[in-house]
Amino acid sequence: MFLLIQKKFDYRLEKQLSFPGETLDKLAVKKRFWWAVAPAIPIVGLAGIITCFLGLPTVGLLMAIFSGFELILLVTFMIIRRKAALFSLINQYFFVLFSFAGVLYFGGIIHSGGLVFVGLVGALQSLFFLKPAQIRIIFTIYFLTVVAEALLQPRLIPLPEITPKANLILFVLHFLVVALAIYTVLSFYITESIRIKEKEAKRLQELDTIKTNFFTNITHEFRTPLTVILGMSDLISKNSGRYLHQGLKLIHQNGIRLLHLINQILDLSKLEAKSMQNHFIQNDIISFLRQATEPFKHLADGKNIRFHFLSDFNIFRMDFDAEKITSLVSNLMSNAIKYSDTDSDIYFTVSEGSKTNPGNNSGFSPFPDRIIHTERILKLTVKDRGCGIPEQELPRIFDRYYQTENVNRNHQNGTGIGLLVVKELVDLLKGNLHVKSVPGKGSEFSVLLPVTNNAIETEIHESLKFGFKELLQEDIENHNFMEPGIELPHLLIIEDNDDVVTYIRCVVGGEFLVDRAMDGDQGLNMAMKMIPDMILADIMMPKKDGFEVCKTLKEDFRTSHIPIILLSAKADKESQITGIGCGADAYLSKPFDPKELMVRMRSLIETRKKLIAKYRTYAIATITDEMEPVNPDELFLRKLKEIMGVNYEDDSFDTNQLARNIGLSRVQLFRKLKALTGASASHFIRFYRLSRAKEKIIRTSENISEIAFGVGFKDPAYFTRAFNKEFGITPSSLRE
Ligand code: ADP
Repeated sequence: MFLLIQKKFDYRLEKQLSFPGETLDKLAVKKRFWWAVAPAIPIVGLAGIITCFLGLPTVGLLMAIFSGFELILLVTFMIIRRKAALFSLINQYFFVLFSFAGVLYFGGIIHSGGLVFVGLVGALQSLFFLKPAQIRIIFTIYFLTVVAEALLQPRLIPLPEITPKANLILFVLHFLVVALAIYTVLSFYITESIRIKEKEAKRLQELDTIKTNFFTNITHEFRTPLTVILGMSDLISKNSGRYLHQGLKLIHQNGIRLLHLINQILDLSKLEAKSMQNHFIQNDIISFLRQATEPFKHLADGKNIRFHFLSDFNIFRMDFDAEKITSLVSNLMSNAIKYSDTDSDIYFTVSEGSKTNPGNNSGFSPFPDRIIHTERILKLTVKDRGCGIPEQELPRIFDRYYQTENVNRNHQNGTGIGLLVVKELVDLLKGNLHVKSVPGKGSEFSVLLPVTNNAIETEIHESLKFGFKELLQEDIENHNFMEPGIELPHLLIIEDNDDVVTYIRCVVGGEFLVDRAMDGDQGLNMAMKMIPDMILADIMMPKKDGFEVCKTLKEDFRTSHIPIILLSAKADKESQITGIGCGADAYLSKPFDPKELMVRMRSLIETRKKLIAKYRTYAIATITDEMEPVNPDELFLRKLKEIMGVNYEDDSFDTNQLARNIGLSRVQLFRKLKALTGASASHFIRFYRLSRAKEKIIRTSENISEIAFGVGFKDPAYFTRAFNKEFGITPSSLRE
């Protein structure tokens, strides 16, 4: 019965105090204030009247003042119904100061019937409402008033009205009040800590369920495309004629799906670790957006969804991070398609955004207080006519792993991280995000981007261009890299996965002689021994990773010239930068486009050829010049020349001695020199001797035979033939 009345009363009180849409926490603070003030008004008021009749008119008056103040405070609060914390602060200070004034008036602590406790009740009340710093202040003030009362005691005159008997009764009453206050505070804290523990347990349980859902979903997300890929390849191997065309298309699509998923997860972990940075370029964002949405047109087509790209601008130059915009667009577009029924429309709109906060209108923004300060704002909107999102779920869709109720029920695919990635990306780009949705009618996601024009005007990174494959195709067809009859370059693949190696062998077959190392250590050894023309290394490998292998090889003068391509499952910019920082000549992320790989390998071979031309002249030029070597290769050539400078007169000095002097095996020297200068070691020695001879012919008057012997030729006739062959002129003609 009592509980029922209490419940009813509570309900009425809540109705009286609350505003629509107010949080439960705020309501609880209001209720606490009400309970702290309201009961005291009639009790103290009544006590005041009684004490008056008992012959204590001053005490009665003080009580009347007290309950009068409390009444005014409560009525004002009930009218305003906001700022409960402020009202309670006023109330607590009133308690402390009232008690101080009362004690002084009554003639000090000893004669005030325990009125000092009233101040303590005020200070105790603060524990319900205030922040720790504020609580400390109010307690300090209370303690100071007590100390002041004690210090002033000798100067105070006791009120005659307070007889020892009245003093005792008042003391007991005040003591009871303070005891009640202490009890209330303690029980509040105990119940609160139990409630928090229960809430935390519930939250952890919820998180656990959400995580389990996530893992179930993500396994599914990975499994499905994998099943298709494996299944289709099986079918193709059994009956390629029948399944090849369709199968390849499916395998490709599913591969892309897996790639998108991995990128999403990697992006999220980097975004959450705050280790992602913006890489702005300045370019026309409209054409970029057209390209970025293009793949989704085909995806929408498959569901018979019409895709409309509407832009208020033909061209809009601004700074943007191509990778992040691609990720934003693909997350929003794939959601729009996923949550739309067949035969509907999706609109991608680009327009000028306004500064007024989109979150203030209907819908929801995860950054309601954010103001974009740039003069212009670009607004990208993805609007669908799909299933929509219930209003109360809007704030949660940007949470990690969250999927709306209806989605859960319909067992839609998804991981619940796409929108979190979108939110984090928008945050990183200092933009804003807004969603409006009507269940059953559709959703509209808007991204607001600040418009700046500070970045360097750059072409969009080629691998981000969507027409890249066609570009490569053209490249391959127009370019005849390999000259017929030339011996094949030697490629070393350092990769632990057999399938990948087989795959690469298929891709490069016919253009390279391939060797394979199983891990980083073996790769290093083989590279040092064989001095291949090119190395293709995975990054994640047993023993030594690709970065380390690359760095070691590039720092060693024996192998520093070898072009290295790193292959990795990490598609992020940072890994690419690390790769390039280790000296890698190219970086491809898995799964790589075989055509891109070939183009890169061929162009690296081309670059090598250009270098050979350069070092050939370098070799001649620096016989007399004292040019500073700028890289390990030049240093290597310089060393060779130094050795030759000491030994060229010795006609028995040969390639074996040269190799020994420089600390290489004969094969290593041969391959390194060949790769750098295009010449063999014996050719190099001969070339050096002839260059010296040429110098002497021009600068001295020694006769030709003397010069020939002087530069290590045993036979002047052979010297003349070799000289003529190398420089296209006989020594005697040159002398003339
Ligand atoms: P998911 O991988 O589940 O799509 P997201 O983080 O991208 O994860 O989205 C979170 C949830 O938001 C989705 O599960 C879905 O319930 C809801 N949602 C997102 N976009 C749309 C949309 N365009 N229409 C309807 N619901 C959407």
